[in-house]
This record gives sequence, structure tokens and C-alpha cells, in this order.
Amino acid sequence: MTEIRLHDTMAREKRVFAPTDPKRVTMYVCGPTVYNRAHIGNARPAVVFDLLARLLRHVYGPDSLIYARNVTDVDDKIIEAAREEGVEPSVVTERFECFYLDDMGALGVAPPDIAPHATAHVAPMIAMIARLIALGNAYEADGHVLFHVPSDPDYGALGRRDREAMIAGARVEVASYKKDPADFVLWKPSDDGVIGWEAPWGRGRPGWHIECSAMIRAHLGETIDIHGGGLDLIFPHHENEIAQSRCAHDGAPLARYWVHNGFLSMAGSEKMSKSLGNVVTVGELLAQGHKGAHLRLALLLGHYRQPLEWSARLVGQAQRTLDNLRNGYQRWKLSQTKLPVPAPQHDDLFVERLADDLNTPDAISVMTGLAKEGQWQRVVGCAALLGLDEYILEGRGEPGTFRGRSLDYWINERVEAKKRRDFAEADRIRAELAAEGIVLEDGPEGTSWRRG
Ligand code: AMP
Ligand code: ZN
Repeated sequence: MTEIRLHDTMAREKRVFAPTDPKRVTMYVCGPTVYNRAHIGNARPAVVFDLLARLLRHVYGPDSLIYARNVTDVDDKIIEAAREEGVEPSVVTERFECFYLDDMGALGVAPPDIAPHATAHVAPMIAMIARLIALGNAYEADGHVLFHVPSDPDYGALGRRDREAMIAGARVEVASYKKDPADFVLWKPSDDGVIGWEAPWGRGRPGWHIECSAMIRAHLGETIDIHGGGLDLIFPHHENEIAQSRCAHDGAPLARYWVHNGFLSMAGSEKMSKSLGNVVTVGELLAQGHKGAHLRLALLLGHYRQPLEWSARLVGQAQRTLDNLRNGYQRWKLSQTKLPVPAPQHDDLFVERLADDLNTPDAISVMTGLAKEGQWQRVVGCAALLGLDEYILEGRGEPGTFRGRSLDYWINERVEAKKRRDFAEADRIRAELAAEGIVLEDGPEGTSWRRG
């Protein structure tokens, strides 16, 4: 079996990936807060973890992985956006979740197996908060419930920051009701007219961090194999998730591998983010005429842990690479007289590169090397793992199709018709293809075609 190695933020080194149960690998990635359109930086974790999911399924089997990516659909920014528009928060969240799924779909990101919504998991969040209070890790103050950071001696293991840096970095409110400035909110009160749920501590809403801890527990269990997200989530979000979950679960660790992607930046600036005003959304890029597959490859041209600078040059490079692969494949396909065209094949070196902490730059150069050697079945196999095969296989204005379907499809339809003894249908398919100048020839190895 291929050995996957992943850089684990907790261990600060690459480790061989060994799931607890290879038949049930669990992965959770912090998903979007749905109140605006995703920028191409937000798409980086979606694409990176989609690729990791494909690799895990390739290695452990198609049904081996449970991949959950949450939807944060209650949050102060959502409440603010809804207020400005004069609508319920759900109007905002449903709209932007649809946009998110469309945008990520255009980038070839498959929907995760589970997409838990925070608003549908308030009961397990309340239960976890109550347990943390009972255990002495959290306390109620002024309608809030706070996690008491000094109650957890292991707090801070992921980011390994010193206490002063943590307090400054968290930018948490220094409120009079806090026992310690590092304490963070698990529950906060909602004013009348603001979205809220009844809880033992009064009507309110959950903090952001408890959402992930409770949903991971509800869907995947106490300890998962992989927890992922962008670098900015290490502190405070993931540090806080770890503390809540470990304290609530008798010391069981939340995740066995912590995987974080680096930032995407705009040329000349630090990080693409809405607050810096240097964003380009996926929707804008698609409207400019970029193909989703080009954008996806552009995101994968750099190693996921490294910073990546978004530029016209990067997208141009992705476009040229992918279009060369597609044109080469389509030419090769036309030169094949036998149908179906030989099936895609996997390439060991390519998989090995990808399995080495998702080394996409090296894996992509293995793929382009195979193209130079004319090994197109392997190129398609590589592209399938990268989530780029559709673009290469589709071709544009490609002559090997009839009525929008590949010739393989029609040959197969005719075989099926013959199996059902529907000879009229089989003859009709042959005649219609013949009218387009495509001659089918039945032989001992099956049906082939040539241009008549
Ligand atoms: P947000 O909606 O801001 O919580 O971000 C959603 C995901 O995108 C998180 O995993 C973030 O870490 C990630 N993210 C946000 N901005 C960037 C960026 N510029 N580059 C890479 N990842 C980012
Ligand atoms: Zn999270």
C-alpha cells in the first residue's frame, strides 16, 4: 500500500499517516462562514483538502473516507449582513452557501460526505458546554459562558505561543467578567430580535470554536484522523477546539494529524483577505472567462504549505499546461482506431510524489513528463487524481463525439441494445453514425471505428 506522509502541525514534522481504522478514515476541515462570496484564497483549502480526500480514497478505497466540512451559519458577521439587508440570517446563509457550492464545484471540488451546519447542532453544543462547566473547565458570567484557559495545563500545544502572544493574538475582548484575559467565549447572550436559542444560561448563541468541537464529536467521534484548515486557524480557533474537545472527552486528543495550508496572497501584499481589500472572488475569475480547471491547477502549482502569490502569470501557466495536456490527449485519442480508448492507468511515481505531503509541484512535473513520452493513459490517470481529468477528456469541438456523447458511449449503447435483442435500435445507432461518416466494425476484440 502507498505510504502517505503528511506534515503535522502539532509534531512540526512530516509523519507517516496511519489511520486508526483504514476502513474508516476521518477528516474534518473548517468550512466557510457563509455571508459573502468566497475569494480565491478561501478556495485554496477547499481544493487542497479535496485533493487529499482523493488521495486517501485512492489509497484506502473509494468508501474508506468520511470527509466532513462544516458550514458556519451563525456568526456576528452574518447577523450584521442580515440586519443591513433587513432579512433573516438564513436568507443570507442559504444564498451564500449556494454560491460557495457552485464556486467550489466549478473548481472541481466534490461536496464533502458531510456538511454539518452550526444552527442544526446547537443541542450538542449546549451539552458539551454544560459538561465543560461541570468539569470546571468553563464558567458562567454575565450571561456568557467562558472556557477558562488556565484550567487546561496543555493549552497552547498546537501553536506553541507564549501566553502574552496568545492574549495579544487572539484579540479577545478584555471584559470585566472574564477570570483570565485568555478565556474565550463558548456561549453569548442574544438581544431581543437577534437569532438565539434557549439554554441553561439564558437565550443566546454559541461561540465559533465550540461549533467544530461539537460537530466533530456528533459526526466523526472523539478523535479523528485528520483535522485541516488554513494556517490562520491554528490560533486561536484550532487551539480552542483542541482544549474544548480534550477537556470534554477525558483527555482524548481531538485529531491525530493537523494539516494546514499556507496563505494565498495578491502580488505585493501579505494575505488575501476581505479586511485588507485585496481580494478577487472565484465568481469574478469565472466571469472573466477563466475555466475552473485552470484555476484549480493554478492553486495546485505551488506546494500547499508554501505561500502562493496569485497572479495573471500563475493562471497563464496553469492554462498553458492544462491546454497542452488536453490537446495532446485529444490528438492521441483521434489517432486510436480501436474503441474504447484504453483505460486510464495510474503511475506509481506520480502517486508517490503526491503521497509525500501532497507534493503537487513534483507530481505535476511527473504528469507533464509522461505527456512528453506520449503515455496518455497515465496522464489521464494522474489528472483524475488531481481532479482535472474531465477537462482533458472533454476536449472542445472534438470530432470523436456524436450528439454530445463520446463514440465509446454510442458503441456501448449498441452493444447493450444487441444484448436486449433490440436489433432495430442497434442498427439505428450504426446507421446514424454512418451518416456522420463513422463506420463501426465488429471484430473478435469488440467494436472499433474508422472514418469512412
Ligand atoms: P474564512 O471564511 O475566512 O473562515 O476562511 C475559510 C477558509 O479559508 C479557512 O480555512 C481559512 O484559513 C482559509 N483562508 C482564508 N484566507 C486565505 C488565504 N488568503 N489563503 C489561504 N487560505 C485562506
Ligand atoms: Zn473549526
